[in-house]
Amino acid sequence: MKIQVGIGNKKEFDYFLKEGADEFYAGLSFLPSHLYGGENFKNIDELIEVIKTARANNKKFYLVINEVSDEDIKKTIDGLRTLDKKVKLDGFIVRDIGLIRELHKSIPDKELILSSLALCFNERALEFYSNMGVNRICLAEHITPSEAKTLINNKFNVNIEMFVTAIEFCLVFNGFCYLKQFNGRCICRDGFKKNNLEIFSLPRFSLKEHFQNLYDFYNTGVKIIKIGRGPNNIYARFIIQEIKYLIKLLKENNGDEFVKKAVDFHIKYRTKLFEKLKEIKKWKKR
Ligand SMILES: [Zn+2]
Repeated sequence: MKIQVGIGNKKEFDYFLKEGADEFYAGLSFLPSHLYGGENFKNIDELIEVIKTARANNKKFYLVINEVSDEDIKKTIDGLRTLDKKVKLDGFIVRDIGLIRELHKSIPDKELILSSLALCFNERALEFYSNMGVNRICLAEHITPSEAKTLINNKFNVNIEMFVTAIEFCLVFNGFCYLKQFNGRCICRDGFKKNNLEIFSLPRFSLKEHFQNLYDFYNTGVKIIKIGRGPNNIYARFIIQEIKYLIKLLKENNGDEFVKKAVDFHIKYRTKLFEKLKEIKKWKKR
């Protein structure tokens, strides 16, 4: 199983390179990529340096540009062409079909990865994207392994990747969360209070269901697992250790054993992570 990680700065890149990540992707702060809480590169020179190092280490590097308005499309394509001349990108992660068509035409011979935000749910849609030049599709965070079976085993030579952190996804529509209007961030996974002060949360997969899904996705044939861009380096560092352990567990255990060990590890690890983040917050306040 390959690991692909989203990065937002050079420090994160250096860390993940050392940890053996296979592929990298990043966004640029001036290109729209619909991201909550994560970080994009703010400086193109820093990004160029990172991509050069990735290439020198035989690692793949993708740029996320989920969608661009008509106003910006020409400028964006020209900018990407110039960047590609300097560093040779492996490809792009894209959501919008207009942009997929434009990239395929203007900067050919690149891998095109369909973003999870494009919500490809069936083989007919996959065939459509494949005809547009898409080589890989990232599964929507809302799909179940049985629903994804035909996508994963498609006859169009389209590879499938998935987020392991789907457990943290926005329950409305990632990148378009209408709950964001209340306090400027996606609050889908928070606890809400009823009038009688009882706490409830939006319906979602339990930890057990989440790891059972991961096991089934793996055994159906998903070979690339993704870590999304995180809000800070500490968080991402924890996640890659968790994923490496999960991959080891996937190889060595049957379904029930895997789910039990994965849930135990996740709970223990998260507790540690939150303690660490609290410590950092306290330290920053000083
Ligand atoms: Zn949300």
